[in-house]
Amino acid sequence: MAGFGFWSGLDVKLEFHPAVANSGVVFIRTDLPGQPRIEANIANRVSGPRRTSLVDNDCSVEMVEHVLSALAGMKIDNCEVHVNQAEMPGLDGSSIGFVLALKSAGKVELDATREITWVTEKTRVGNEDSWIEMEPTDDQSFHLEFLLDYPSNAAIGKQNWETNLNTSEYCEQIAPARTFVLDTEAEQLRANGLGERVGYQDLLVFDQDGPIDNELRYDEECARHKILDMIGDFALIGTDIVGKFTACKSGHRLNSQVVFELLRQTAATTATTTPNKKRLSA
Ligand SMILES: [Zn+2]
Repeated sequence: MAGFGFWSGLDVKLEFHPAVANSGVVFIRTDLPGQPRIEANIANRVSGPRRTSLVDNDCSVEMVEHVLSALAGMKIDNCEVHVNQAEMPGLDGSSIGFVLALKSAGKVELDATREITWVTEKTRVGNEDSWIEMEPTDDQSFHLEFLLDYPSNAAIGKQNWETNLNTSEYCEQIAPARTFVLDTEAEQLRANGLGERVGYQDLLVFDQDGPIDNELRYDEECARHKILDMIGDFALIGTDIVGKFTACKSGHRLNSQVVFELLRQTAATTATTTPNKKRLSA
């Protein structure tokens, strides 16, 4: 599939290729000598404004969250993503284009079990205003809720949306939800030379009346898109997740903090169970 990067404005081709069990999701830069590999792992995440990028083997891939979200939503754990530019195609600002490509390619079950990361203790990351809370669930679900509040924009305003994630829910209710910006932010980004190729049809640009020259796909499309991003960012943990997540006015930075917190909880659980096992066998 082909498109252009929203930030770089550069044309890019992306291909999904099958991968062997337990290899995870790996991006491959086909435009660079030696075709370097960049693993979709939280250790490779670098901070940047408004998008998720990865650096490994001295090269980068940018705005990977919608690609990772599509793979996670489709329950595809092992995949090589071949790209000939650093930045992923922005498409229509959602992940539905990636989902449709993956659906037409199909998936096969591999002879390996998928690891699960469990939320073991109720925890909150962030501050008073912007936060994500995670807690254990009794029903083995991956539950996500997003609370959005844009007092400065009447058309977005307050929205909330929640889901118990499964593949059909993802494809029908989440993947089509598009990225959004305020018209004032769009002007600022353009003034900084970003997003020059991006038009009103490529994502949602909101003024006080709603999206400019565009129609909403859902009433709470913005809240749904924030959940799409959470799924993509959380996928950097490299396992399935069981737990309940409630997010308020958060973004990519807090999403990555959640992944680190989950890793801390997993390490703590392993540390407390290992000595017991040793004692039992002694
Ligand atoms: Zn997004």
